[in-house]
Amino acid sequence: MKVYISATLRNYFGKNHVIETAEDNIRSVLKFLTDEYPDAKQILFDENEKIRSFIRIYVGSDDHTASDMWYKKLAEEDEILILPAIAGGAPSDSIINDKRMKAQTLDDNDIKRFEKHLLLKEISVKGQKRIKAARVVVCGAGSLGSSVIQYLAAAGVGTIKVVDDKDVALADVSSQVLHSSRDVNRPKVASAKDKVRNINKNIEFEAESVKLDSENIEEIFDGYDLVIDCTDNYKARYLINDACALLDIPLVFASIYQYEGRVGIFNHNGGPCLRCVYPEPPVPGLVPTCAEGGTISPLAGIVGSIQANEALKLIIGIGDHLDGKLLTVDSLYLNSRILNVKKNSKCPLCGLSKTIVSVEDFDYEEFCGLKESDNEVPVEGITPEELTRRMDNNDPMTIIDVREPHERAIMRFPNAIIIPIGQLARRMKELNPEVDTIFICKSGKRSILAINTLREAGYEGPMYNLKGGIDAMKDIVFSHEGAWL
Ligand SMILES: [Zn+2]
Repeated sequence: MKVYISATLRNYFGKNHVIETAEDNIRSVLKFLTDEYPDAKQILFDENEKIRSFIRIYVGSDDHTASDMWYKKLAEEDEILILPAIAGGAPSDSIINDKRMKAQTLDDNDIKRFEKHLLLKEISVKGQKRIKAARVVVCGAGSLGSSVIQYLAAAGVGTIKVVDDKDVALADVSSQVLHSSRDVNRPKVASAKDKVRNINKNIEFEAESVKLDSENIEEIFDGYDLVIDCTDNYKARYLINDACALLDIPLVFASIYQYEGRVGIFNHNGGPCLRCVYPEPPVPGLVPTCAEGGTISPLAGIVGSIQANEALKLIIGIGDHLDGKLLTVDSLYLNSRILNVKKNSKCPLCGLSKTIVSVEDFDYEEFCGLKESDNEVPVEGITPEELTRRMDNNDPMTIIDVREPHERAIMRFPNAIIIPIGQLARRMKELNPEVDTIFICKSGKRSILAINTLREAGYEGPMYNLKGGIDAMKDIVFSHEGAWL
């Protein structure tokens, strides 16, 4: 039997994307995997040996994560897929009602412009009028947002609101085709507006250059037909999911990481929400974000285009939708599958007894593990300036680099011992508890996880996290003329 490992988890499975096993049920497959790959245990199971809530195990397209499915005998040709949070059927009615459709008119220019849509019998004049009547919010004008915004504008969506508070950075231009080199340092919503105007000046474009939070989100979404999540962090994803469920707006979700993408529709036709599928996000640092892990440039175009296509199908009211399903696309091995995801009757947001009734009363920082809790010992940090001073003085200390080998090839850190996070607990003996140990990674998040991992394993020596990681240290290093890089 073959076990497929999602890209986000491969580092814990010896970098394999597929593992062969002769075991014939989920329980023995999990035992085989954790025996073969001891590092995988910490990502799959919590301290009570329960499967972590952000992990899903599929056999074919069926969810087998619940432990009562673990003893079911599987056939040799069955395929298992292990998938963490990153993040239909019958054709349904359009989300735009007939009254709003009939209130629209297409002029001669529209008829020429949208000729290719009008030729499709499923879209035709009625479908194009529904597209014109539609009011859509796109959260994020980054890589996924780039194709979503341009395709929705090109297809003639009447009102597009784009929410993004960031400016364009040079690194964005390689995959965010909405922005060009001359847009660097401009607000992303400004270059989005220019692009949309160039495509079709009749589109109502609304820019919200703000960060979505629980105070402003309902006002931003209220009165819109559809929300498209093109963000890149768990806090925004759960906040968007919750606001959509509370305002009863369908959500087209997508996420990308390295070579892999996912698309789904939440909160539509009585289908599940993000919380039904993934009750909790991963612990910060355990699954790298796409900013840390990287993505191949066209993946955002592939996945964002599918997202825009799903949005148009919901607006027109045609085809099979991805509600109750999750599409996964692996662009490296050219696999794609559609997995069934179920509504959870115990979901705190959309289940039988709801406990989340307002986004303002829910603590997203704490939920996503972004806040230090009272009973957790805070991790002590060291500034890049302080570390530079100690290095210049040759102070006795140990520096541990927890980055992956290919990241170290971009920028090496001098005199650092290299220990990936997964190996830390078993290589604890290499540390000297008599001197300070400084943990470094790209942005200062994985190194906090490294310190907590060692604490759990019983290491008692002094440990410090390099604040802001190597990203923050770079400028200081260059002011030292790169002497130790
Ligand atoms: Zn739910």
